[in-house]
Amino acid sequence: MTKKSAILHFGSDLVDKPIISGLIRNYDVSVNILQASITPEEDGTMFVQIEGEHAIVQKAFDYLRDHRVDMIFPAKNLIWDDKKCVDCGACVAHCLPRALTVDGSGKLQFNSERCIACELCIPACPYHALGSVSEHLS
Ligand code: SF4
Ligand code: SF4
Repeated sequence: MTKKSAILHFGSDLVDKPIISGLIRNYDVSVNILQASITPEEDGTMFVQIEGEHAIVQKAFDYLRDHRVDMIFPAKNLIWDDKKCVDCGACVAHCLPRALTVDGSGKLQFNSERCIACELCIPACPYHALGSVSEHLS
């Protein structure tokens, strides 16, 4: 069994198409939608985990690609430097899987288990507290 995470981006011409229901109907996979932001006639974004037999999961992603869904499959390589972080929260809205959250006391929390290293948060941090491993190694 394989579980693969991805951020799916649907163009405005795709958001009202039954692409995900077709995926579930035609492939023997479980689709866990962790977050979705879809507005009729506008672009939409969805964070999913697709689980099943390896070959079937691959076919499921091929199906999405064939339907012109843009996808990000990042490697896990995000670094959060809590010494630089001032808990401003500017990164939180950019993190679709909710790996970055602010707790009840206003402190940023980073849940590396949820992070898929899409790197969308990196440019959002004015304090350079977020970066990628590859950036640090270069
Ligand atoms: S790289 Fe940043 S935005 Fe992407 S999942 Fe990880 S914490 Fe969230
Ligand atoms: S944007 Fe940067 S400084 Fe602000 S909470 Fe996120 S990591 Fe911390």
